[in-house]
Amino acid sequence: MDFGFSLSPSSAIELDKVDKSLFGKLSRIEPGANTCIACGSCSATCTASGYSGMSVRKLLLGLQRGRNQEIERMLSNCMLCGKCTMVCPRGINTRRVILTVCRLYDNVEGEL
Ligand code: SF4
Ligand code: SF4
Repeated sequence: MDFGFSLSPSSAIELDKVDKSLFGKLSRIEPGANTCIACGSCSATCTASGYSGMSVRKLLLGLQRGRNQEIERMLSNCMLCGKCTMVCPRGINTRRVILTVCRLYDNVEGEL
């Protein structure tokens, strides 16, 4: 019987099965990435977030959940202005984190 609607696909993430290798590499290069408390101060301050969805919080959570393609698309919206770094209560150098993630996507880990 057609009820005229369908169920949304599950958004559950099987953390044991997703590829978290990129976050592992980032953690080794920038240990501060592990100290994020997902407060959202970076996103609230970000110049690009209002029109592009750029968010360091989303970036870090996405990498921990293996959403690598989604994150790669988001990175192109960052202007590297550094405002997010100035407001992070954990003192994470978010601008450097972003640059490191860009380089990991470009496979230049050896140069880091
Ligand atoms: S401001 Fe710092 S601690 Fe807060 S979500 Fe952003 S990176 Fe994480
Ligand atoms: S460096 Fe990038 S993520 Fe941080 S505030 Fe600027 S545009 Fe946003």
